[in-house]
Amino acid sequence: MSVRVRYAPSPTGLQHIGGVRTALFNYFFARAAGGSFILRIEDTDRERYSDESLDDLYRTLDWLGLSWDEGPQVGGEYGPYVQSQRFELYREHAHRLVEAGRAYPCYCSSERLEEVRRKQKEEKSSIFGYDRHCRDLTPEQRAEYEDQGIKPVIRFKVPMEGETSFEDVLLDKVKRKNRDISPDPVILKSDGFPTYHLANVVDDHLMKISHILRAQEWISSGPLHVLLYEAFGWDPPVYCHLPMVMGKDGQKLSKRHGSTSVRDFRLQGYLPEAIINYVSLLGWSYDDSREFFRKEELEKVFSLEKLNKAPAVFDYKKLDWFNGNYIRELDDDVLQKQIRPYLIEAGFLSDPPTPEQEELISEIIPLIKERLSRLAEVPELVRFLFQDPAEYDAQLLVPKKTDPAKTMEMLRAVRGLIQNFSENSDEELEDEFRNLAEQLEVKLGQLLMPLRVSITGSKVSPPLFGAMRILGEQEVTKRIDRGIGYLERLAETNK
Ligand code: GLU
Ligand code: ZN
Repeated sequence: MSVRVRYAPSPTGLQHIGGVRTALFNYFFARAAGGSFILRIEDTDRERYSDESLDDLYRTLDWLGLSWDEGPQVGGEYGPYVQSQRFELYREHAHRLVEAGRAYPCYCSSERLEEVRRKQKEEKSSIFGYDRHCRDLTPEQRAEYEDQGIKPVIRFKVPMEGETSFEDVLLDKVKRKNRDISPDPVILKSDGFPTYHLANVVDDHLMKISHILRAQEWISSGPLHVLLYEAFGWDPPVYCHLPMVMGKDGQKLSKRHGSTSVRDFRLQGYLPEAIINYVSLLGWSYDDSREFFRKEELEKVFSLEKLNKAPAVFDYKKLDWFNGNYIRELDDDVLQKQIRPYLIEAGFLSDPPTPEQEELISEIIPLIKERLSRLAEVPELVRFLFQDPAEYDAQLLVPKKTDPAKTMEMLRAVRGLIQNFSENSDEELEDEFRNLAEQLEVKLGQLLMPLRVSITGSKVSPPLFGAMRILGEQEVTKRIDRGIGYLERLAETNK
């Protein structure tokens, strides 16, 4: 059997990390098996549909570098691949089931259905949902409704006894009593639009889908779908419901935990390589140790046998760690291109940047590359290189276990030391600072702190000597002098 799998998103919101995991697993499974990866747009829910979601879907797949063998834009033998262009097919199939006695028209008004629901609630009834009122209407009763011009919905006749089961690759046998399946769900609405269940099943069959890899949220639809296949006289595909993705607290991953949309991750400066790598490990592993995988490798080594049953936990810190690693693997000029928009947005660069500004960013890159975990962190990290941090808490200048007077002495000595510092290497500078620290009987870290704070306005910064070189001696001296001034005042008030 040739492998044909699909990603079948509904464009009703931004692509989220769970959806991307489904897309990736289908894609890798197809590639590893030499099969086909199909994209199908499930846009039957016209109320929740939005163009923005559809654009976001394409943009996401493009950003991740996922291409599909059949689907919108590329076409294929079993198209169209957009459900709103296939409505006629679904109507035909719904009526086929009516003729076979496996589905029936329901003429109930929404008021009646509302009333049924209200009563069930009131009586705390064990059955919940449609009361099968129209299941056994006589042809005469039907004709009567038709004469009144009532447009029916089509409902699927779920057997009232027995049970339905299917084999799931990951979860083994999934069983459900038929009476626990939603009573006679609508498969075709009165306006002729299909519901998810009908469109999904009809398309998977007509598109010759071999395996269904989808989120575990869909498992409850499984038995109903199997019944639909059976009613049509078709064989269902192989099912594989993917493990849930949870937050660290064991709850289903949601916005409460942090970003969940791919767009957010993209804007924060996660690289597609990192997202692909990390997301692929949500419920799948190659072995106990290997963690780094590029897309091209996953296209070869992915297999369903290595899926995990246990829910996956989405760890934002781990993703940051992956991202940092992939950032460090970028060539400097690629990284420069990637951080440019963030610096423009922060107002540090003109748009487009001048050649001098480009030169400046290329000097900044080596200072920050080692410590980045997200590209959006760059502006804060380098703000002091573009803006003079004139206002900061003077107390920051004073290292632990010293006082403003002593700190002032240190900073004055440092000011003398750094005359012509640009000519010295980092090693030479460090030696000089070490000697000075010894003379002043302070630790090197203590000596550097007031220098760092006067230059950057913060206790943490990129490597100091490199940053000082970028600022130049004049600017550095000016900031040190300001620091000394702050310390003078502080020492004064402390007296
Ligand atoms: N359109 C459904 C979704 O948005 C597809 C579910 C399935 O894969 O069957 O996830
Ligand atoms: Zn009815």
